[in-house]
Parts: sequence; structure tokens; C-alpha cells
Amino acid sequence: MTDMTKRKLWISRKIANRKKLYQDLRKQILEKLGNKCANPNCPIPRELMDIRCLQIDHVHNNGNIEKKKYYSPNNPKYLRKILDDKEGNYQLLCAYCNWLKRFTKT
Ligand SMILES: [Zn+2]
Repeated sequence: MTDMTKRKLWISRKIANRKKLYQDLRKQILEKLGNKCANPNCPIPRELMDIRCLQIDHVHNNGNIEKKKYYSPNNPKYLRKILDDKEGNYQLLCAYCNWLKRFTKT
């Protein structure tokens, strides 16, 4: 095996590990936050909700500052912070409610 092939393998393994870590952390966060949209007026019935449509939302709308600090919303450090949060700073919103919240935010 050439050095180049070895390096390519190493990188693809690293990407796969990171993806798995992200998926594990996201799953734990969804469970912690109840696996459902936090909007009581959500128009999508819970039994029809696909958890892939659930997004992590900042209750106090300071998500952009935090995302900048951690470079990416997929940063494991950022996801662990959400997982460790005990002050209720985060909630789950489905994509529908999350977009509406963004558009109606003043
Ligand atoms: Zn919703």
C-alpha cells in the first residue's frame, strides 16, 4: 500500500468516526430533550414526526453566537455542552416550527 492510499484510508476512517460520534451525541440529545417538537401548537402530529426533522433550538435565540464559537453545529464539544446543559437553554423544534420561529423573530 502506498503512503497516499494509507493516508486516504486514515482520513476516511477519521471522517466515519466523527460521523458516528455526531450521530451518537445527537441521539442522546434528542432523548434528553424528549424526542419531540417543543412547540405546543406544532401542526405535525407526533406519530408522523420523523426525528430527522427535529432540530436543536436555543430557547434564548443566541444560537448563532454559540455556533460561531464552536465553528460548527456538529462540533462534538458543542453537542456535549448541550447534553450537559441543566438550565433548559435548549429545546427541540421540528424544521417547520424552527423556520417559523426564525421568520417571526423580531
Ligand atoms: Zn413543530
